[in-house]
Amino acid sequence: MTVLEHDGKLLIVDCGVLFPEEHQPGVDLILPDFGWIKDRLRDVVAVVLTHGHEDHIGAVPYLLKERADIPLVGSRLTLALVAAKLEEHRISPRLVEVKEGDRRGFGPFDCEFVAVNHSIPDALAVAVRTAAGLVVATGDFKMDQFPLDRRLTDLRALARLGEEGVDLFLTDSTNAEVPGFTTSESELVPAIETVFRAAPRRVIVSSFASHVHRIQQVLDAAHAHGRKVAFVGRSMVRNMGIARELGYLTVPDGLVMDLKQLEKLPPQKAALICTGSQGEPMAALSRMANRDHVIRIGEGDTVLLASSLIPGNENSVYRVINGLARYGAHVVHKGNAKVHVSGHASAGELAYVYNVVRPRHVMPVHGEWRHLKANADIAVRTGVAEDRVIVADDGVVVDLVDGRAKVTGKVSAGYVYVSGTTVGNITEASLKDRRTLAAEGVITVVGILDTDTGTLAEPPDFLARGFAPGQEALEQSIPSIEKALAKAAEEGVREREQLEDLITRAVAQWAWRAHRLNPIVLPVIIEE
Ligand SMILES: [Zn+2]
Repeated sequence: MTVLEHDGKLLIVDCGVLFPEEHQPGVDLILPDFGWIKDRLRDVVAVVLTHGHEDHIGAVPYLLKERADIPLVGSRLTLALVAAKLEEHRISPRLVEVKEGDRRGFGPFDCEFVAVNHSIPDALAVAVRTAAGLVVATGDFKMDQFPLDRRLTDLRALARLGEEGVDLFLTDSTNAEVPGFTTSESELVPAIETVFRAAPRRVIVSSFASHVHRIQQVLDAAHAHGRKVAFVGRSMVRNMGIARELGYLTVPDGLVMDLKQLEKLPPQKAALICTGSQGEPMAALSRMANRDHVIRIGEGDTVLLASSLIPGNENSVYRVINGLARYGAHVVHKGNAKVHVSGHASAGELAYVYNVVRPRHVMPVHGEWRHLKANADIAVRTGVAEDRVIVADDGVVVDLVDGRAKVTGKVSAGYVYVSGTTVGNITEASLKDRRTLAAEGVITVVGILDTDTGTLAEPPDFLARGFAPGQEALEQSIPSIEKALAKAAEEGVREREQLEDLITRAVAQWAWRAHRLNPIVLPVIIEE
């Protein structure tokens, strides 16, 4: 999420989510922190959405919960995807549809939209003109010269903007470390064809529910080889419905049917397209791999993972592949066949773009620190002065004044965690607790306090969960507890909370000393 400010008004570019990693247990989604603009929501003139990926639109419902009538600006597909998401949150948004070449004003921001090619159709870059200068944000993009929909990244428009003078250029860094050029989507045809030609029984394809072009290739291959197709999984069914309705997905008559009909066909005539290519535990593919789905994977089935492997998901994905293989499936993935290309510009493409645009300042965005740095290096190599390339953390404030961009401050921009129906209740501290609970277990100590003496009336009771030495071992901590309480009594400590702290410390120290463990200790003192 990027916020541009001019003349007291705010323009937001994208509003996405992150997905949790393994060290964030129980987190469903990660939102940007809206705290900094919370008191200024009235000043927001629009949210420009560059494309329909979750990391660019996923947090929109949560922003609109703060103020529902902020106009959402984007291409037809992007808006359809965000509208479907908002419907699930029972929000009816104000939508402003734009397309490449359009120029629209939102408050003091004069926005022009430029076609870019990415792994979802209808992606846009946005050029924002204000009295302070011209800012161009590429959004996610690559420069596939042979895209399925023939909609190329509009280098001519970028060159024209470059002629006008781009003061600040925000560019996609995701693949900046990858040398050369990203392979064209069209080069996947042979590998996908081979799968459909050679598969003896069903073909089950897993991809992102937003990768319309990849799914188009799969549909074409299925059709060419006389197979019928069913979409499986809520987001896949929903998104493909939208893409088909709006004309982004071309489906030959009679090709797609529902799962029940498909199951009546002989297996060599059937193909399924589902979600779960990242090993998401609740998605269709993981459930198939766990025999927890109506689709029973069997000997001779072929599973095609037609997607990237997002770093951090490796273990989950390999778990799914192993599960599928165990039930007899042949699994084709990017590790053993050319069935995936990235949606992002590699280093070569970025260099081209810098040479075409000749920006005055560059700010690499989208990616981790190493990606931002690699992208910055490319900008410098194309001749952008080093002190005009801004590599910034989330929350960093960049001022563009008199054609000069500088870092001038920082606002708080941490992560906001969604867990179940709660938003923002889970903090870094509670995540630490969750990790400790998972790794070390929890011990509850229940004691009855003799208020006259300040010591326990009888030995404490213990309850333990996930604590490796087991509940019985806890008896051994009693001397430590009694010693701590006796000392406290001598010193006249009578407050229950203080005594509970003492017990916590005594048990924790004992657990470390005796077992090298750091469980969570929950003391409960009942006063007699
Ligand atoms: Zn994207």
